Amino acid sequence: MKHILRFFMAFCCIAFLQFCQKNIGGTQNPPVVPPPFKILDSAQMVSDMQQLSADSFKGRKSDYAEIALTHDLIQKRLRQAALDSFATGYFQNFTLLPNPTQHKNLIGFIKGTEKPNEYIVMGAHYDHVGVRTSDGNVYNGADDNASGVAAVLAAAKYFKANPPKHSIIFALWAAEEIGLQGSKYFTNNLPAGLTLAQIKFNLNLDMIARSDNNKIWGCGLYHYPAYAYLIDSLQGKTNVQLFSGFDSPSSPQNWTNLSDQGSFHAKGIPFLYLGVEDHADYHKVTDEFNKISLTKYVENANIAAQMMLLLDRKIN
Ligand SMILES: [Zn+2]
Repeated sequence: MKHILRFFMAFCCIAFLQFCQKNIGGTQNPPVVPPPFKILDSAQMVSDMQQLSADSFKGRKSDYAEIALTHDLIQKRLRQAALDSFATGYFQNFTLLPNPTQHKNLIGFIKGTEKPNEYIVMGAHYDHVGVRTSDGNVYNGADDNASGVAAVLAAAKYFKANPPKHSIIFALWAAEEIGLQGSKYFTNNLPAGLTLAQIKFNLNLDMIARSDNNKIWGCGLYHYPAYAYLIDSLQGKTNVQLFSGFDSPSSPQNWTNLSDQGSFHAKGIPFLYLGVEDHADYHKVTDEFNKISLTKYVENANIAAQMMLLLDRKIN
């Protein structure tokens, strides 16, 4: 009887310990679940890219009357994400001479939880080249650069729900196609209260949808090699291969100053420009939504979002 009693007590002890381990955690470490790679709202992002590259948007030339449609869509998303704005609201207006034309950057930001006075700028130009005068065909610019704009807007939504340590500016530039004018105006005329020294990095997205050869490029590490982790940490996390290059004087093509990151580089602000190689539809009326592999586009946009997470974690 004693034996049976001891056996019963031992059984109860073991069962109790197992219960503790299962239900209270015990001494076992909880399993490590890697964070998801795809963090952006892809339905919103794809829909925005499709809208921006519709014929009704008339190729988003920065000084066409129809550019108001582009402004309205971007402003709606900035409002929905409840981004903060600088003193002039989401719009930063500027005039280009000699034949005066009016343009507007759209800019919102999220205040950082730990380093509110240090800013990372995530940007993309929204303008394109308009309508072909000879036959009225629209340069839809789905890859260039509806793809980048929709990704920045999706990232704004993500980071509002998942607040970053640093402040993040989400900037949609005007008039890139006529000489990086929107980003140039911004870096030369910062909103009141913001200084160049507070801007720690610019991630620029320009043509991120058409990785037809399964490759996307990060340009800028030649100038700012300390940021190689942006490429290295994400390699192999997606089916798209990441490459670094197109940024040295000896490159066959040097993209350093060919998109809005050039305006930040001119001020000594580190940058990475994420984009695909030029393709057969680059600056043609055939750069259309139906040419885009949505799977690859969503992967590339999430690469950009992951880069923002890395920057927020690593910038001191
Ligand atoms: Zn472009």
